Amino acid sequence: MTARRAWLVALAMAAAVVLPHCSSPPPTPDAPPPPASSEASPPPSTSAPSPPSPTPVGPAVHPVTAADLGASWRPGCPLGPERLRRVELDHIGFDNQPRRGELIVHEDLVDEVIAIFADLYRLGYPIEKMRTVEVYPNADDELSMRDNNTSAFNCRDIPGSGQWSWHAFGRAIDVNPLLNPYIDAAGDLQPANAEVFLDRNRIDPGLLHDGDPAVAVFTDRGWVWGGNWRTPKDYQHFERR
Ligand SMILES: [Zn+2]
Repeated sequence: MTARRAWLVALAMAAAVVLPHCSSPPPTPDAPPPPASSEASPPPSTSAPSPPSPTPVGPAVHPVTAADLGASWRPGCPLGPERLRRVELDHIGFDNQPRRGELIVHEDLVDEVIAIFADLYRLGYPIEKMRTVEVYPNADDELSMRDNNTSAFNCRDIPGSGQWSWHAFGRAIDVNPLLNPYIDAAGDLQPANAEVFLDRNRIDPGLLHDGDPAVAVFTDRGWVWGGNWRTPKDYQHFERR
């Protein structure tokens, strides 16, 4: 905008030089219609076939209460609801159309999560759905994973460890968990219906592989990817410590 303002100032000065002998007042500065701004609003979709063309709505951030969090939170959790935010985000679905989803994350990560999902959107990386986990009975993570639901906050521990998961701090996100399962040291997997996706040579849209741009969107910002762990393997999991 600075360059354009400078140009308008220069235009006004040129008009002042040309017009001093005029007795009539100079034209008002807003008389000439400015060129259509390419910044104020996104351009209408063009004929370019490259998806996704529809315009995203943009993120929205909301506070949350204990009631909002339902079974995903309880007294004794390491964070209170006041430290969490519900973030509405645009994402691309498996039909290559824009969709709207929600994540609950730590308040300190809101801007970063918005930037990450904007990048995933630009990449066209598909996400089936993003619903907050209290919509599943007992905020059951297995049910959310079976449903291939991408989610973040859930006050739960690391399976089998007794330690809080980073999800309990709103600092971890599981992405397309059915396609990107968790595999423990014994070879058991979560969700239980993900067996076909143990084959990581598959290239189905949404599967995450080492070196994928969708993985780098997280890891370039300092997030840790569970797909890089030796054991357990947690292909769906990104955490920000
Ligand atoms: Zn996880």
